[in-house]
Amino acid sequence: MSEKLERIKCLIIGSGPAGYTAAIYAARADMKPVVYTGMEPGGQLTTTTEVDNFPGYPEGIDGPKMMEDLQQQAERFGTEVRIGMVTKVEFSKEEGGVHKAQIDNKNWVEANTVIISTGATAKYLGLPSEQKLRGGGVSACAVCDGFFYKGQDVAIVGGGDTACEEATYLANICSKVTMLVRKGEMRASKAMLHRVEKTKNIDLRYFTEIDEVLGDQVVEGLRMVNNQTKEKEEIKITGLFIAIGHKPNTDIFKGLLTMDDAGYVITEGKSTKTNVPGVFASGDVQDSEYRQAVTAAGTGCMAALDSERYMAATDIIETNEPLVQAD
Ligand code: NDP
Repeated sequence: MSEKLERIKCLIIGSGPAGYTAAIYAARADMKPVVYTGMEPGGQLTTTTEVDNFPGYPEGIDGPKMMEDLQQQAERFGTEVRIGMVTKVEFSKEEGGVHKAQIDNKNWVEANTVIISTGATAKYLGLPSEQKLRGGGVSACAVCDGFFYKGQDVAIVGGGDTACEEATYLANICSKVTMLVRKGEMRASKAMLHRVEKTKNIDLRYFTEIDEVLGDQVVEGLRMVNNQTKEKEEIKITGLFIAIGHKPNTDIFKGLLTMDDAGYVITEGKSTKTNVPGVFASGDVQDSEYRQAVTAAGTGCMAALDSERYMAATDIIETNEPLVQAD
């Protein structure tokens, strides 16, 4: 069976604001970047409705539309965007060495520089009843799925900014939102907390966790437990939203790149350099703190500039080319 090999200057893994911004800069620097989109082309913002805090859009912008615009902007300067997953990587530890990435468990691409912008994925609680009902009323994205529960009672778990934002979003659509927070306080900002407290149809429960999600095929209710008194209570709901944070998408880089305990890639100082020469990380995959579209875009720009400087410093002069059509 023939296996196609190809050499490119700059491989960008991931197609969120970080990946596409890296692509815009790398393409303008004539690095002919190739973006592999991953499973969710456009990244997390494609599961958002209105983005109000990205500079330059005074009226806000629809998340998927913003990602389409970013893709077109990257393509305008010669970025090649390919639908596909990088399933395995082999990194050279040598300065100026060639890195390899396997696409969809098939063809390999060789690259002088790699920009990792694989983002992060929503976490779930891990309860068997929750896992069973994923897609049957359990969701990790209120703005994607909230609409299906219009006029119904739902619940949300989490005490961070995401949970607060999603709870108020759901409160506009649903008749009642029960919000479960496992501690006696929220991690969310005061502004977010106030917004939740002011919303009449949010029933805020502190020290409360899920004992079991009830229902066979679809969510029918929730058994909650107060973790102080151990008292249990059942409520009827049709939708359950999990908003307890994210996990960085770094599984294929384990053992190859230096990461923190949560699996976020560690970058050097103020740069996007990883511990491997020629491999850079940008966006949520290396940022457990800010995780904003605009900060991701900023680090995407930095990663492209770091890649360009690395190519210049290591005297790599290459053009993108198919290597061989090997048997
Ligand atoms: P966070 O990590 O900030 O919060 C996660 C929340 O989930 C915490 O309240 C945590 O509780 C709770 N939690 C975690 N695991 C469990 C569990 N097993 N059971 C029950 N509860 C659990 O994540 P977010 O997604 O909310 O926010 C991520 C980042 O994005 C933050 O920096 C946030 O500020 C930012 N953000 C900003 C927004 C904005 O400014 N518009 C909007 C959304 C996010 P505990 O505190 O007990 O650990």
